Amino acid sequence: MAQQGQGETTGRIGKVVIVGGGTAGWMTASYLVAAFGDRVDVTLVESGRVGTIGVGEATFSDIRHFFEFLQLEEKDWMPACNATYKLAVRFENWREPGHHFYHPFEQLRSVDGFPLTDWWLRHPTTTRFDTDCFVMASLCDANRSPRYLDGTLIDQDFVERGDKPLARSTIAEFQGAQFPYAYHFEASLLAEFLRDYAIERGVRHVVDDVLDVERDHRGWIERLRTEEHGAVGGDLFVDCTGFKGLLINKALGEPFESYQDSLPNDSAVALQVPLDMDREPLRPCTTATAQDAGWIWTIPLISRVGTGYVYARDYLDPEEAERTLREFVGPEAADVPANHIRMRIGRTRRSWVNNCVAIGLSSGFVEPLESTGIFFIHHAIEQLVKFFPGGDWDPSLRTLYNNSVAHVMDGVREFLVLHYRGAKRADNQYWRDTKTREVPEALAERMARWQSKLPDSETVFPYYHGLPPYSYNCILLGTGGIPVRPSPALDIADEKAALLEFQAIRDKARRLVEELPTQNEYFAAMRAQV
Ligand code: FAD
Repeated sequence: MAQQGQGETTGRIGKVVIVGGGTAGWMTASYLVAAFGDRVDVTLVESGRVGTIGVGEATFSDIRHFFEFLQLEEKDWMPACNATYKLAVRFENWREPGHHFYHPFEQLRSVDGFPLTDWWLRHPTTTRFDTDCFVMASLCDANRSPRYLDGTLIDQDFVERGDKPLARSTIAEFQGAQFPYAYHFEASLLAEFLRDYAIERGVRHVVDDVLDVERDHRGWIERLRTEEHGAVGGDLFVDCTGFKGLLINKALGEPFESYQDSLPNDSAVALQVPLDMDREPLRPCTTATAQDAGWIWTIPLISRVGTGYVYARDYLDPEEAERTLREFVGPEAADVPANHIRMRIGRTRRSWVNNCVAIGLSSGFVEPLESTGIFFIHHAIEQLVKFFPGGDWDPSLRTLYNNSVAHVMDGVREFLVLHYRGAKRADNQYWRDTKTREVPEALAERMARWQSKLPDSETVFPYYHGLPPYSYNCILLGTGGIPVRPSPALDIADEKAALLEFQAIRDKARRLVEELPTQNEYFAAMRAQV
């Protein structure tokens, strides 16, 4: 159907077919109906035989914009997904046994033009940069909720934006701002919740296996052949088939570029461990505990903990990884089945080729050390809406989309490499190799600069990738293996205002720890109201 624009006729894309019913598939379907309503016809095909990856339960604070865009409040979806709050990532044993630090969702304050972490290097008030420079670190230590029992969000002189739900905001609009928390949720429950949301709003759901992908003479996808529903045709096809990349890699042959030379962890084993919320404290953070050949994640949810060992098969075999994980968890894990996963680390060279867009694991993935998988999906969906094609399939829109998606993943890759380079730990071959393995060339240069001046917006990866400069500061100061020097200017600048700011953070943290409920108390109250 033709549509008149500013003197041009571009036509309109009428039919979108999504293949895959994991987190990526249902997030895409629900976002597209929220964005375009019934002006686009969306069909989602998912196999009843091939399961979803079954992990992916910790998020970035930007995820708030996803739920806002869908016009969902926390009370609408959190109880249904056994969700909890996440104020930070807590890193344990990356520097040395017994040490921990937080990478919180909290913008770093500045004093007299210098970020507070710079001041801290020159005038450390305690040995902990995280509790000295950020309020959230103390809330994590004390297992606090970021909301009071009546639902009010903590006051936020350190966030640019307040608590404004249902504003249909996007990451793109708020880049640079920092909402103070993200969520943990059960991946399978979220997919079910979004499935119902999408179907109620008109998405057609087909449970069937895609057996074949038929292309025209130009290589564009014309239709999918399914086992029981015959041909499914469309204009735009979204590949959410997970690591196999059924459409983008297998059918269209777009190459996958591995990051494994710099990020060698290629495997994981996961357990879902029951949790008694009445007895166990719900930590408001994801924990990443360093291990002999990788690290273990711990994600507290209502009623269970998601945990898993991410490791490199070159250093550890799967049986040993599972044994280590079970020992780490303790007797609660005894009867719980393990889910062994092979991970494809890297990205598809172009995530959008012809009329096929890959979103989710088919597009790219890095190990979940900073919970970026769902952020990649959310970012990609926003970009898809932003660069949604017209009937003339303007190739510039594809190029802009592909650049944006590639930048996000390449940037996150650099950030993750920094965790291993920075880790002081070098007590076995695995950790010693993290110091000598080649890193992306630009990162090597950047790391050299950061030794003289902590990262700022001019010295981190130059394109948007979801991680602000303060995140790099946290990892450098927390992991402790790369020596960093205070700025010479701070030897001669007056430190009075900075010391007052440290005091203000301490006072605020103390007050909030006294006032706020624990996560357990908060969610017990929220669930009692449902
Ligand atoms: P999948 O869940 O694999 O879904 C694939 C879908 O494709 C399924 O529905 C399947 O049925 C369908 N399918 C496949 N073949 C066919 C076919 N022939 N016909 C029809 N349908 C088909 N991300 C985070 O943000 N935070 C985390 O903490 C986190 N932890 C992770 C831990 C690990 C170990 C791994 C591997 C990933 C983690 N991720 C995390 C990433 C996150 O799990 C994924 O990004 C997310 O689950 C999206 O997966 P997906 O939907 O792309 O693929």
